[in-house]
Formats: sequence, structure tokens, C-alpha cells
Amino acid sequence: QHAFSGARGPDGESHLFYQTRKRRPPIDRAEGIYIWDRAGKRYLDGSSGAMVANIGHSNPRVLEAMRRQMEKATFAYRLHFENEPAERLAAATAELMPEGLDKVFFVSGGSEAVESALKLARQYAVATGQAQRWKVVSRYPSYHGGTLGALAVTGMALMSAPFAPMLRDMPKIPAPTCYLDRDSLTPEERGLRYADMLADEIERQGPETVLAFIMEPVGGASTGALVAPDSYYARIREICDRYGILLIHDEVMSGAGRTGRFLASEHWGVKPDIVTLSKGFAAGYVPLGAMVADRRLVEPVLDAGGFVHGHTYAGNPLACAAGLAVLGEVLDNDLMGNAERIGGLLEAELKGLMARYPFIGDVRGKGLMLAFELVADRDTMEPLPVGHDAHNRLVEIAYGKGLIIYSRRTRGGRKGDHFMVCPPMIATAAQVGEIMDMLTASLDEFAE
Ligand code: PMP
Repeated sequence: QHAFSGARGPDGESHLFYQTRKRRPPIDRAEGIYIWDRAGKRYLDGSSGAMVANIGHSNPRVLEAMRRQMEKATFAYRLHFENEPAERLAAATAELMPEGLDKVFFVSGGSEAVESALKLARQYAVATGQAQRWKVVSRYPSYHGGTLGALAVTGMALMSAPFAPMLRDMPKIPAPTCYLDRDSLTPEERGLRYADMLADEIERQGPETVLAFIMEPVGGASTGALVAPDSYYARIREICDRYGILLIHDEVMSGAGRTGRFLASEHWGVKPDIVTLSKGFAAGYVPLGAMVADRRLVEPVLDAGGFVHGHTYAGNPLACAAGLAVLGEVLDNDLMGNAERIGGLLEAELKGLMARYPFIGDVRGKGLMLAFELVADRDTMEPLPVGHDAHNRLVEIAYGKGLIIYSRRTRGGRKGDHFMVCPPMIATAAQVGEIMDMLTASLDEFAE
């Protein structure tokens, strides 16, 4: 038998590479909201990875469902066989969607879900005699994925700059970062002002050329749990309808229950034409994503000869069996209710930190999708200087103490060091206390 020793090269260098040379300790095991490294150190997964491990690690029901499916069949190509887990997961997903949003296309991750949404939108336009529509308006800052299509609608210069010549430049409008504004408008007026920028941009582009608008109902990696004023959401829908443009909600991070509702958009009662899901949808047990579309879009595309798109692992039975068990755990244990309750508690605790640390400029989010932002001056919301490297420093201090949080300093557009605190949806009040103890100790050390 071949022994895979894992030996490194002659100079001890790993053959593995990720984004940077920075190394992390190897994982040993994970259970519930905790992860242990090989040296036996325990970490509290305060960001669910990257908002992925929604139901916690090593859930017995999911492991059992996967084991049972693995014993039957792990893979069959969908052009050769359909499978029951995929059929059942599609039906269960459709049931959680607003009326009409009931056609489900499986993929293996968030970027693939966004690619699928963009391509379905485009094919719908072609199939319905609107071939002149191709521009997809998005927001900056925003993150919609690393593949070239998703990157074209991503508003993060740092991510897209090297590939600029390979990308079709797509129009962007500012994300509704109202918490940074120091004007005399009410929140609702600000929400409308930001939403109306979409109408202005559509007019500037030529309405007949615009295909869709893509946005995260609650912002993720780029804006740190950004929530717009209520007025924003309905006005965006109204503008899309006015111009006959499709509304794509990217709920790769905000979906699957994390905000306390299955779709974050439910908080505002706005129905998109297409929604993307991944991350918490299979909660890290398998790579899985989904694009859910209104049947009104799918039918003309299938009638016109088919959806010209697909990925090899789409809808494989193992991934779908895992996804189904994850969904079962979320629904049977009222984890969305828990996300709302525990999220409320955690949000209040984080807001409480503002009295103690003047450099916390804002605390925001919905349910268990929460973030705080560090600033040099809370009155002006002036960010900390780049040289301060706050997003890395605080994360490293917390990591040393065994608390994992997720940070970004969004480049391009408006800058700010934000930190997402998004533990799994199974978190208890006692565990919120544990998070706060480690976070307070970390902020004290950071402030020194
Ligand atoms: N959309 C959003 C909103 C995301 O947060 C992400 C990942 N951070 C993606 C798309 C891309 O997903 P993936 O990394 O699984 O391709």
C-alpha cells in the first residue's frame, strides 16, 4: 500500500499553497462551535469559518445521512442519472422560498451560484427577445465570487484589478453605507437616496441595455453585515420593475437562516427574481450551492432549447443528502429562531462594548450575521490609518486567545476595518458570554 507520508520538500517547505505564505496550525477535529488544532489548542469558531458552519461541526444527523448516502452511491453524472436527494432538496428549498421562486439549480459553491444566476438572467433575456440587455449593475464595495463572471460584478478593486483586461467592466453604484453619512436626512430618506442611484445608473447606461441588478440584502465580506434602511429594499424592487430589470439577491452569506429568516430578504418582504445560496446551505459538510429562480425565467430558457451552463458536480447525491440533513437540523431545532434570539443577545453585548472602546465606530447586522467596525474617530467615522493594520492585528490577538473572528479592510470605495462575529446558529447564551470574554480581552490588548 502506498503510504502518503505528507513529507515536505528538502527545505521543509510545503507543496501546498493558498493566497499567501502565511501558515496556520493544522486542524485536528471540530465539534459544535469549537475546533481543535493538532497541538490540542481549542478555538471558538466565532465566524463559522467564513459564515459557513451554520449548524456547527460534526453534527451526528448530517454525518449519518452522508454515511447512508455514501454506502449507496456517492456520485452519478446528472446526464446519466437523476437522484432522489437532489429532487428532495430542491423541493424542500422551493418550499422555503417566496411564491413562484421555485426552480432550483444546484452547484458546488457561491461563485458557481452567482455565475449561474448571471447566465440564466442573460439567457432569459435572449430567449424573450431582449438580446440587447447584458449589463449587470452591482454595488461597491461588494463581493460576489472569484470566478471571472462573478468578479466582473464584484466591487472590490483589490480582487479584480489584476484581471481587469479579462473582465467585461460592469456598472457599479455605491452600497448603502448610510452609517458613514453625516447629513441631515432621516434613515428612510437616505435609503431612498441610495436606491435611486440605481435608477440614475440605469438611465446613464441606457435602460434597454441593462439586464439585472445584483446585491446582498445583508452585506458580507465587503461591507461587514451592512443593513440598509427599510426604505431601500422596496425601492430597489420598484426600480427593477420600472425598467424591466431582473433583481438578483446574492444570499450566499446571508441566506440559509443566518439572519433569523431563511432568506434575509424576508425581513423586508421583497421577492427577488433569482437568489443564490451556498455556505450555510450545506454548512460546510460538502461543497454545495444553489441558484433558485422564478419559474417565469426558467421556462422560456428551457423552451428555447435549454440552459447553456452546467458544472460536473452539480446536484450530486452525496452533497444533496448532506444539504437535506442540514436543512432538517435548521428546521427541526428552530435554529433560525435561535439565530434571532442569540443574535439579539450578541448584538446587544457588542453594542455595549462601544461605551468601553471609543474606537468601535459601529455595530450592525441581523440575527447572527453581525459585525463591528473600528474607526479613528466615531464622530467623523474616519477609518484607522492603513499602517495601523487593525484588521489583521485584532484577528491575530483573538486567534491567540482561541477566538476566531473574520475581518476585512475593504479597499476601493469607502474603507474601514470591520470584524464579523457570526458563530454557528446553535450557539447558546453561555457561549455568547465566552465570545465576549475573549473579545474583550482581545480588544484590551489591541488598545494597549
Ligand atoms: N457571494 C457572496 C455574497 C460571498 O460571500 C461569497 C464568498 N465569500 C461568494 C459569493 C463566493 O462563494 P465561494 O467562495 O463559495 O465561491
